[in-house]
Amino acid sequence: MKVLLVEPTYYTRFPPLGLLKLASYHRSRGNQVKLVRGINEDLKFNPDRIEITSLFTYAWKPVHEVIKFYHNKFTSAKVRVGGIYASLMPHRLRSFFPFIDTHIGLFEDADDYLPAYDLLNEVEKWEKWNSTILFTSRGCIRNCPYCVVPKLEGKIRPVVEDLERHIYPGHKRIILWDNNFFASPNWKKILHDLEDIGLPVDFNQGIDARLLDDEKAHMIADLRISLIRTAFDDLHEKKAIVNAVKLFSQSGIKRRKIFIYTLYNFYNEKYPSDTPSTFFERIKQIAELGCVSYPMRYEPLTALEKNRFVSPLWTNNQLNMVVKARRILGYGGAFPPYKGLVKKFEKADNFEEAFSVYPLKEKNNKTQLRSKDNRIRSTVTQTPKIALDAQCDISLAQKIAVTNDLPG
Ligand code: SF4
Repeated sequence: MKVLLVEPTYYTRFPPLGLLKLASYHRSRGNQVKLVRGINEDLKFNPDRIEITSLFTYAWKPVHEVIKFYHNKFTSAKVRVGGIYASLMPHRLRSFFPFIDTHIGLFEDADDYLPAYDLLNEVEKWEKWNSTILFTSRGCIRNCPYCVVPKLEGKIRPVVEDLERHIYPGHKRIILWDNNFFASPNWKKILHDLEDIGLPVDFNQGIDARLLDDEKAHMIADLRISLIRTAFDDLHEKKAIVNAVKLFSQSGIKRRKIFIYTLYNFYNEKYPSDTPSTFFERIKQIAELGCVSYPMRYEPLTALEKNRFVSPLWTNNQLNMVVKARRILGYGGAFPPYKGLVKKFEKADNFEEAFSVYPLKEKNNKTQLRSKDNRIRSTVTQTPKIALDAQCDISLAQKIAVTNDLPG
């Protein structure tokens, strides 16, 4: 059987892990596989089956585009769509394309296969990819209201015992996509294995600050890491964040290398705690700790358009102020602890003062304000660039994209 694996052309920084595992699964059954990204007019491969993956619900258009194209081109091939969009909105997908099968959640049978990274050589966007992405555990112990992980993966469970077997030969880096690494019972063994393997490690989905202790912080610091990620999504996590920063710092990790996601614009009747003012408190706290904050705008799990949702506790204007401040005062969308920026946040009495690019008229003279902002900007550009390779398409504060490898 010939199987065509299709990754739609939505924006992503990571190759389609689920499709690569599915490719290995099919190969183990003697099937021939081919990977493409988007529409390939000159495809010299006549598939019997087409497996398509999907990512965020708001990135549905490129998914529909490839379904239409490949179904029209290979009318007798069976089409199956998996991934986040297919898992969260299968009915919508089938209402457009009644001929497809949808796969919801993980394709457990393929999960233990070493992804067929060799297929990436055929796809221009991924031909230089040299990192192994893996989950050592699935699921999570928590049930955060803005997160899709508990719905799609359920309770925490280890899924990798012999780590070395999961590292692709020749790869130069390990990217861990565990949703909540320290919640898994095998965390210590995995950390020992990572140290023995000796490759740079990226805890891509972040560390749950509430689970950190001295031993864990030291074991992380002994690995080859370039930055640490965690999340400060609600003010009640303040104590845990302050403690985690202290532990990481004592174990030798520089505070500027601690990257803290800050969710904003989230609303749920049971958790009406995210407001511009509590967001400002979190950003200020992170600046005072000397760490980098990365605001993450909340999108509802089934949003069909990005940046459309506005929480009843926020206004469009306030959301735009965050966007503008990130662009003008921050770096790469983040707020690093630049001196001028920390001062600005410390001096501000409220959200509006903190995030206005030109502080409020009634408090200051306009000329002074401009020169003050210019000082902030120049501090920003003069400061050595921090490796912000984290980018933050990754998660709705760690959450959704962890499952972007769901097989098609
Ligand atoms: S946000 Fe993180 S800690 Fe919360 S449920 Fe999702 S994966 Fe678990």
